[in-house]
Amino acid sequence: MQQTSTTMRETVQQVWKKRPMIISGPCSAETEEQVLETATRLAKTGKVDMLRAGIWKPRTRPGSFEGIGAKGLPWMQQAKKITGLPVTVEVATAKQVEDALTFEVDVLWIGARTTVNPFSVQDVADALRGVDVPVLIKNPINPDLELWIGAVERVAKAGIKQVGLIHRGFSSYGNTEYRNAPMWHLAIEMKRRNPELLMINDPSHISGRRDILLDVAQKAIDLDMDGLIIESHIDPDKAWSDAKQQITPERLGEMLGQIAWRKEDINSEEYHAALEKLRQQINHLDDELMQILGQRMSIAEKIGEYKKNNNITILQTNRWNEILERAFKKGEKLNLSKEFITKYFDAVHMESINHQNKIMNS
Ligand code: PEP
Ligand code: MN
Repeated sequence: MQQTSTTMRETVQQVWKKRPMIISGPCSAETEEQVLETATRLAKTGKVDMLRAGIWKPRTRPGSFEGIGAKGLPWMQQAKKITGLPVTVEVATAKQVEDALTFEVDVLWIGARTTVNPFSVQDVADALRGVDVPVLIKNPINPDLELWIGAVERVAKAGIKQVGLIHRGFSSYGNTEYRNAPMWHLAIEMKRRNPELLMINDPSHISGRRDILLDVAQKAIDLDMDGLIIESHIDPDKAWSDAKQQITPERLGEMLGQIAWRKEDINSEEYHAALEKLRQQINHLDDELMQILGQRMSIAEKIGEYKKNNNITILQTNRWNEILERAFKKGEKLNLSKEFITKYFDAVHMESINHQNKIMNS
């Protein structure tokens, strides 16, 4: 297996540390001309740090374009030579890892349909043993953090030192605004559990369409993601895969210029002091909330005792509806959404039932 050259290795190290890290390129490599022209035009924007292209495409349904295969790897090598930018491709099998490394692919990524399968991840991880190459791991298609963490562990156990994460959203049944629901809270939780790993966002596969790409990208940056991977094609409507979500290199350059990069004024002391003050206020309020919730649960326990003594069930649906209705009315005045109130009270209700249950069974 060939290894990538020393200077390119240094470039990759710099890119790995750069914030925001921007990866772009077509969903799929289609022809040599398409890969090289996309790469050249992306490099011209001056805003892209790494080139991407799918060589082997795991498509959900058979019959759609399943990738050009290893034949596209020399095109990526050539794109790197012309632009000086490192390249990344998706790998799903040991053979694909071997082929990608033979053609000096600088960074590998594991796709969402692979992360769901521990056998496949292990196969890729075994092929990576003894190799020094950074690996990005997309979240699994289903909202299961354990699978995502499992993939990270398998790759890390194979000796890979540089592992990064890509948040690309999660499949959900039925028509939603997104192709893959972002479920931002899962990405946040993954980051909380793995603070040392970089996490970039993939607005293309979350959106599935061009018109909301910028919104998704902005939200990701607001949530302190480390970068973006966005698909770009020289003629998006004619792309052989994911045509609806791809944008031209020039549009990508423009879009990146429209994003408010939240880290810009990180050096301003005044900003820090103001932020610190607000955060302290939040901490005080959170403490109070916890205290109040604790008190609420002690009352629930008293109610539990009363219900036990009178031999009645814990759940009284009417009472619960009444609580929710009251909360909605109050919430409206306080600018709290119905969605939030429902989620909050569901959690409180569950905790309350557990407390009462403990009492009834004691
Ligand atoms: C891709 O990046 O082109 C791709 C197939 O993505 P995912 O694995 O997120 O579906
Ligand atoms: Mn794609």
